[in-house]
Amino acid sequence: MIWRSIFRILSPRGGAGRVSILIFHRVLPVTDDLLPDVPDARLFETRMRMLRDSCNVLHLSEALDRISAGSLPERAAVVTFDDGYADNHEVALPILRSLGVPATFFIASGFLDGGIMFNDQVIEAMRNASKSEIDAAWLGLGTLPIAGAEAKRAAIDRILGAVKYLSFDERRDAVVRLVDAAGAKLPDDLMMTRTMVRAMELGGMQIGGHTRNHPILARMEPAAARAEIEGGKADLEQILGHPIDLFAYPNGKPGRDYTREHVIMAREAGYRSAVSTAFGSVGAGADLYQLPRYTPWASSNWRYQAQFAANLLRTPELAAANASAAGH
Ligand SMILES: [Zn+2]
Repeated sequence: MIWRSIFRILSPRGGAGRVSILIFHRVLPVTDDLLPDVPDARLFETRMRMLRDSCNVLHLSEALDRISAGSLPERAAVVTFDDGYADNHEVALPILRSLGVPATFFIASGFLDGGIMFNDQVIEAMRNASKSEIDAAWLGLGTLPIAGAEAKRAAIDRILGAVKYLSFDERRDAVVRLVDAAGAKLPDDLMMTRTMVRAMELGGMQIGGHTRNHPILARMEPAAARAEIEGGKADLEQILGHPIDLFAYPNGKPGRDYTREHVIMAREAGYRSAVSTAFGSVGAGADLYQLPRYTPWASSNWRYQAQFAANLLRTPELAAANASAAGH
């Protein structure tokens, strides 16, 4: 298999090894017109089978242990999921278990048992809208048509673009107004229950923190950001009954979504390591509190593997030290 040979060259065993950390959010039971970029069960199973056959898939904690011991296997890879969607338990878990692929799930604890994230509020409001258009002039978007999947997708993209980087409170209020305008009822079963979180762990998966409410940390007051990081950890530890030591920054782009200040907070909260969404792979000497992650998106297998290989050659971007962190 040609890709195994290429990956072996790019990520050899031992001290020069590199780990590719993949990031997923949802796995749908079947394809969804409003979520064209989200894999369904069949595509996810194909990708996981390919990964298992071309790489050595490890738990993130084992990969970290082996990086520090200089004992990585060749072609090392890690699978991670962010946010805590119920489909991770319903759809992804059985596939991962049947293939013997371990994964780490970073869960925003504030949405467990019936919560819904702001992006899903927008998506589900458009899906379930009782209107054929929606007034979004107050967001600078005019009147948006929302009849049919294509119009709904376009409206979702424009609305998410307009509200994503509002302050936490402004964003919450804007989304409430949109859901109201759409006259939509929202689902309450998109995210995991506490029972599912425990079942993931019993099923051999690892659980990590992802704050409580998934704020953009860089847009918050430091005390509020610290409370989110520490609170999410405490919630999950209470559910699982033991410490957790892996963290993922919400959104995760260095410098934009989190800064050096939040890297320090994650360490002080007692996390052992944290992952970002910067591209690249992890080798000896990596910043353990800013591990890059990547997921190839090409639909053809060949291009998917080529993207995977190219990512092994990228130098990850890190959050630079900033003025507020300089005093620490
Ligand atoms: Zn997230």
